[in-house]
Amino acid sequence: MGNIEKVNCLIIGSGPAGYTAAIYASRADLKPLMYTGHEPGGQLTTTTEVDNYPGYPQGVNGPKMMEDFKAQAERFGTEIRFGLATKVDFSGSIHKVWIDEQTEIHAHTVIIATGATAKWLGLPSEQKYRQIGGVSACAVCDGFFYRGQDVVIVGAGDTAAEEATYLAKLCKKVYMVIRRGEMRASKAMQHRVTNTPNIEVLWHSETEEVHGDEKGVNAVSVKNVQTGEIRKIQATGFFVAIGHKPNTDIFKNWLTMDEQGYIQNVPGTSKTNVKGVFAVGDCSDKVYRQAVTAAGSGCMGALDAERYLAEHQLH
Ligand code: NDP
Repeated sequence: MGNIEKVNCLIIGSGPAGYTAAIYASRADLKPLMYTGHEPGGQLTTTTEVDNYPGYPQGVNGPKMMEDFKAQAERFGTEIRFGLATKVDFSGSIHKVWIDEQTEIHAHTVIIATGATAKWLGLPSEQKYRQIGGVSACAVCDGFFYRGQDVVIVGAGDTAAEEATYLAKLCKKVYMVIRRGEMRASKAMQHRVTNTPNIEVLWHSETEEVHGDEKGVNAVSVKNVQTGEIRKIQATGFFVAIGHKPNTDIFKNWLTMDEQGYIQNVPGTSKTNVKGVFAVGDCSDKVYRQAVTAAGSGCMGALDAERYLAEHQLH
């Protein structure tokens, strides 16, 4: 077995929530230790341009922005290590976290910022144009780039409905591809979709292929599973909104979660049901999911951790 290390504040995850928690915790002299997970920088490192984060008037490249967050956290002394938390034991007042099944960390406070992972259809052409351009899992982030153009969105939950109506305000036409004959989204959201004139719903439909060239997506083939008919839709954007999976599996036996695995906070705080353990960012937020809201909640996590340590005379 590996070593046991004792820390005041352990941060798990390195997206906007984790780095913001690190900036605040290190400036408060909590000497935080961060483990980045296997995708340092989180979901933003899989995007290109970020245009909606305040303070970057010209926009910023996602990976570059996360480099800036990291540099700021390091400037105040956060120790950042590559590694994945693989097991926890939150049964005592000292919280135990194992990293890559080796190193054992004993922490007075733990800030969980493990994020969520967007689900994809899994088509090779979808993955290909994620690299080249034209495929996105976030309409609020990327819709702006498709102003006045035709786009396709897949999914029928609240996210897809919300994103379709968001896109409809920016784009000429939105094709919404739904695999069944009904939507999972709330009735109110369904009405918004069906009452938006420039959204065309394609029921009983599945995506066959995303087409394009070296510049990005230019069409999407959609098959009606009832009739077998395949329609090639001319579109420059392909949005996938079929859900996210919060990265919270290792906390299941310890923390209160909703049925989808999002950690539940004590309302208005970053606290969880375990004292000294805080959850911030997308692992506990299925509604907003923005870099700026994640960063805001990361700040809450650090402030709540600091207060907890002060109350227990640990800092
Ligand atoms: P959901 O899991 O609710 O919906 C996913 C949708 O994607 C379903 O319609 C599902 O179809 C479809 N889907 C899944 N896999 C595929 C696939 N392979 N091919 C095609 N379609 C597929 O995820 P959401 O992100 O929409 O919502 C997650 C949670 O967050 C929900 O509880 C939702 O209510 C909540 N939410 C609330 C908001 C708000 O209050 N403003 C905003 C956004 C989300 P099918 O129905 O056939 O299974």
